[in-house]
Amino acid sequence: MKDYTKSKAAFVEASKIMPGGVNSPVRAFKNVGGDPLFIDHAKGDHIYDIDGNKYIDYVLSWGPLILGHAEDNVVSALQKAVEKGTSYGAPTPLETTLAEMVQKLVPSMEMMRMVSSGTEATMSAIRLARGWTGRDKIVKFIGNYHGHSDSLLVDAGSGMATFGINTSPGVPDPLAYDTLTVAYNDTAAIKKLFAEQGDEIACVIVEPVAGNMGVIPGTKEFLTALRDITKAHGSLLIFDEVMTGFRAGLHGVQGLTGITPDLTTLGKVVGGGLPVGVFGGRKDIMSDITPAGKVYHAGTLSGNPLAMTAGIATLSQLNEEMYTAMDAKVTHMLEGFKRSADAHKVPLVVHHVGTMWSYFFNEGPVNNFDDVQKSDVKFFAKFFKQLLQNGIYTAPSQYETNFLSVKHTDEDIDTTIAAFDDALTKTLKA
Ligand code: PMP
Repeated sequence: MKDYTKSKAAFVEASKIMPGGVNSPVRAFKNVGGDPLFIDHAKGDHIYDIDGNKYIDYVLSWGPLILGHAEDNVVSALQKAVEKGTSYGAPTPLETTLAEMVQKLVPSMEMMRMVSSGTEATMSAIRLARGWTGRDKIVKFIGNYHGHSDSLLVDAGSGMATFGINTSPGVPDPLAYDTLTVAYNDTAAIKKLFAEQGDEIACVIVEPVAGNMGVIPGTKEFLTALRDITKAHGSLLIFDEVMTGFRAGLHGVQGLTGITPDLTTLGKVVGGGLPVGVFGGRKDIMSDITPAGKVYHAGTLSGNPLAMTAGIATLSQLNEEMYTAMDAKVTHMLEGFKRSADAHKVPLVVHHVGTMWSYFFNEGPVNNFDDVQKSDVKFFAKFFKQLLQNGIYTAPSQYETNFLSVKHTDEDIDTTIAAFDDALTKTLKA
């Protein structure tokens, strides 16, 4: 049995000074009924808690670390950068370098702005869409999560889904009313909504592969309909690729599908483990941002030199072969999980797109939030804790995505398949 004594003590101390003992809710393990692990360090695909336990890590800081923890080139680039100062509040060529790299990989981002989180990226993109169109209403999909800004905290995934809440106290009603929500992958529902209110809608924001209710791919039919219908009504289409960017594939979901949004938001991988978000898209629209245009956007640490350095060091190492190899590993791993579940007669649905993967204790199919909610979350909670005991660190919620890095070896994958089978056996016996 792994001993968590030091993590438990650290959590008690943290809870005295931070609400729930954490700085972001799903980290608290509250829904799975345990205490969170406090981390000491991590390298490659391994993470070590303060009790000295070692795990194969599939959370990877919730996505950013596609090259693994403390990747040598990222670390040395940061070491050099930090000697030159940590922040200037003035432009550096690093910002242009990262922006050019992003544009090469995601060409629809003709112009872009750097921010410090995914939340800021989506919040700013929404403001821009409203400013550009002169309309207030926005559309999002049930179970999609776009960060914690007021307008987007309605029927959201991730922690909101994990804790079963559909909006937050403190979000003013008029703002929530302007956020219209529709079931994910429901093409008929979105068509109906646009037929009724299309000319009042500033934008549709979507996770083109949903990751915040587990992995659920948007169907081609659905995403194509979003593109066509927004265009027809003068609304903007925003692909929130904060999670899928450089994860679903090297060129995001827009690269995989060939569907081009008006605006895109990025985060996670683009910052290589430091705080970066990006919003960008059509030049004519982006030119409306201050000081070029009138829609206000700013940030003390936007384009921070350390964050840009980590992003550059990360993106410069990515290539198509890496994604092909990672996809094959995820496919192999999920096939192993499925074989194991079938042998134990446990209903299991596995989904993955590129390096994003999840499993649902669910009869399936799982195409939207209603479907995910049919999953056995009580079983998930017990199973999750057993996996942890078996040295596998995964997302502590049925409503989240797991990830892969280039550092996960075939041996790690086989270890994980065996650990999954053992955890199933033990959870069923418990
Ligand atoms: N959009 C999506 C699709 C996300 O997955 C997330 C975070 N998981 C966000 C936005 C918000 O990003 P951040 O947590 O960096 O604010």
